[in-house]
Amino acid sequence: MEKYLIPLVPGPVSVPREILNVAAQNFGSADLEPEYVKLYLETEALLQQIMRTKNRVVIQTGEGMLGLWTALKSTLLPGDRVLVLSTGLFGEGFADMAKAIGCETRLLAFGYDETFRDFDAIEKAIREFQPKMITMVQNETPSGTMNPVQEIGDLKVKYGVPLLCVDIVSGVGGTPIHVDDWHVDLALGGSQKCLSAPASMSFLAVSDQAWDIVKQVKYVGYEALLPFLTATETAYFPYTPYWQGTAQLKRACELILEEGLDSCIARHEKVAKYCRDRIRKMDLKLYPVEGAICSPTVTAVYVPSALTWKQLDNDLREQGMVVGGNYGCLAGKVFRIGHMGTQANMNLLKEAMDILETVVHDI
Ligand code: PLP
Repeated sequence: MEKYLIPLVPGPVSVPREILNVAAQNFGSADLEPEYVKLYLETEALLQQIMRTKNRVVIQTGEGMLGLWTALKSTLLPGDRVLVLSTGLFGEGFADMAKAIGCETRLLAFGYDETFRDFDAIEKAIREFQPKMITMVQNETPSGTMNPVQEIGDLKVKYGVPLLCVDIVSGVGGTPIHVDDWHVDLALGGSQKCLSAPASMSFLAVSDQAWDIVKQVKYVGYEALLPFLTATETAYFPYTPYWQGTAQLKRACELILEEGLDSCIARHEKVAKYCRDRIRKMDLKLYPVEGAICSPTVTAVYVPSALTWKQLDNDLREQGMVVGGNYGCLAGKVFRIGHMGTQANMNLLKEAMDILETVVHDI
């Protein structure tokens, strides 16, 4: 495998040696040893700090999508109404998932290059549709945008919507997350983005109201939340926990909190602003429309018209730099610079922008 000196893919990001080393040791059987429960509870407490929540946090083995399926399958039944607020690929994906469960789904879709602004339209949809669940993505990675959550949380409370489910996979650890103040019932995170751990763990902050619904729904399946309700008391987990992965997640949280959560968030903002300023100076076009909130963790940029994505990717790789392509209708048109976690590094970005500048000026 080729190794790139300038890795700027928007997850999985490069994992620091300190986190890699945690996995280079043997642990006992997590099913049998009480130390695993201790590790799990300690990791949960750190995640609660990072997500600013008192809610229980469930830690699962698996990457981000596992958390999304867990949240939906454990709280929804066929026929339940789900309002999907979307500004991008992952936002829209929630509609497909809810439909697959048999839910009555309403999609309120804004442009992929926008962030929520028309709160009247959102309020109207909530009032008319009276959903059991509202879904949204806080940081839409393919679009390089960040949606406000507070306003949606306030509407959830105003209209007594039972569940607000928010994908924070590429925002948690690099952007402000206020699960409790925002009234988020299911906050879904992953290890391989801003936390800079391997793509092995997902986690969900689950409100008391969501737990009540989980108990009513009683979903049984691989992604079931219910067994986690008592797992730490009984030391009985639904499947063999991944001790190394949990230990890496814990170390990742510690590194963020040692830096200081606010400083870490400020680092992401600073690097993202630098990246956007350099992109504009190169006469490249940012993907988000004017007035949309650009993501502090990933910058999405139109592929310059004189190049194909393949050429751009090749030219950058030749100089040791790798960025993200895109999916769906954005494939080939928009590329992404991932400056999250370890990659939110000013020196790395300076070098990267110099390389990008030479590549686009050579065309
Ligand atoms: N949600 C968002 C916003 C993402 O960016 C991603 C991955 O890129 C996911 C969910 C899914 O995470 P994973 O690829 O780890 O399953």
